[in-house]
Amino acid sequence: MSRRQFLCTGTAGAVASVAGAMVTSSGTAHAQQPANAPGRPILIKGCCVLTLDRALGDFETADVLIEGKTISAVRPNIVMSNAEIIDAARMIVMPGFVDTHRHMWQGILRNVLPDGSLEDYRDVVQRTFGAKYTPDDVYAGDLFSALGAIDSGVTCILDWSHIHNTPAHTDAAVKALFDSGVRAVFAYGNGQNETGRFWEIAGSKFPEDIARLRKQYFSSDDQLVTLYLAAPSGSPELVLPPFKAARDVGARITIHVGVGPGGRNGLLEKLNAEKALGADTTYVHCCTLNDTEWKLIRDTGGTVSIAGYVESLMGHGIPPTQKAIDTGIRPSLSVDVETSVPNDFFSQMRTVFSLQKREVWERRHAGDKNPPAFLTVREVLEFATIEGARANGLDRKIGTLTPAKEADIILLRTDRLNVMPMNNAVGAVVTNMGPQNVDTVLIAGKIMKRNGQMLGLDFARLERLGDEARDRVYAAAKVKNSRV
Ligand SMILES: [Zn+2]
Repeated sequence: MSRRQFLCTGTAGAVASVAGAMVTSSGTAHAQQPANAPGRPILIKGCCVLTLDRALGDFETADVLIEGKTISAVRPNIVMSNAEIIDAARMIVMPGFVDTHRHMWQGILRNVLPDGSLEDYRDVVQRTFGAKYTPDDVYAGDLFSALGAIDSGVTCILDWSHIHNTPAHTDAAVKALFDSGVRAVFAYGNGQNETGRFWEIAGSKFPEDIARLRKQYFSSDDQLVTLYLAAPSGSPELVLPPFKAARDVGARITIHVGVGPGGRNGLLEKLNAEKALGADTTYVHCCTLNDTEWKLIRDTGGTVSIAGYVESLMGHGIPPTQKAIDTGIRPSLSVDVETSVPNDFFSQMRTVFSLQKREVWERRHAGDKNPPAFLTVREVLEFATIEGARANGLDRKIGTLTPAKEADIILLRTDRLNVMPMNNAVGAVVTNMGPQNVDTVLIAGKIMKRNGQMLGLDFARLERLGDEARDRVYAAAKVKNSRV
């Protein structure tokens, strides 16, 4: 299947071209509001700009010029006569948030397990629902997860995708990511069955199918969706073949480690003995790693993804923000599972921020004469943007508003009752804002959301797609859905 076909047609076809229709997230049709015309520059005017680029700094008032996919200038008083102007006088403009680990196939299972533990999650989400997923369910899950991300200001997301019971499941996930318009990293992983012994799934081609994926969909790394491998955790015998399959096709790797008491297994020391650790790998959670393992991550140049909300909720362990900082690693952030976790990054930032401060206060109150520094809101905002870009292998392209980078940009309203009057831009974003402040979202220079409304979605079709997929999965898993 060529890339062109892939973008324009599809089995489920949920968001495929609904010309002229723009529908709000509450389902109300509005007059059409065209996305930017191809080739016409976009000039975001008169805004407070947080570039997150330490060399460039921030601007109390400046303009941002976008030409094609690229940020071409950030400075006050830009004049460009043929540009489409976005008046952003009452907005904060910053890079889109970057999520480094989310199991997007679960987008149709949102909130099924708000009270569950990690063991409940494995039983219910993976072995009951996941085992019964069809490719169409994967498509719907990924699509909802991606659209929800864009709507809340997450412009780049790593799909930690372990639902690949057949290559058709894989094709469906990749298609949903391309169809959604989000900037995504597709991290190809194992399948799901009732026992958790995924290597016994007859139709699964994990990990060797990654060679086909590289050829079929990811022959270029210069596109909106790029390729990683999502490696299973366990013994080195289980981990090493996927690591090799990834490196054989030049794909970076992501792996869960240090999860709960079972994560105290010295896996990274064992992998290091096999010379398998490298700068191409992101380590997710890391809550119960030992000191040697932390140093191995740092010394081999690896990156870290902390999912603070789920780690606190489900028993992974204390989110290791301070441990990462102590080791000299700046972590990235992630949502992980929408089955139990809010899917916006404001929640992620606040979780990590408050838990790190709690840890420092506890040490101070216990008489620690040399406690670590408190995290600042700016540091957390960096974790949520540029550090995410680094972990997703995209820091040369996104993560800051630096001229020549691609234009993944969000505009946040300051004229809303939760933050007005504005006093401190970074403080407002990290402390008080939420998805309701996300007015406009651009990904690679394309406007995806404007005036608080997602563009180009047929909401009635989306609702149908979601309801049908959810009902199908519940029926196949023989779970009664009472919804209350
Ligand atoms: Zn995870």
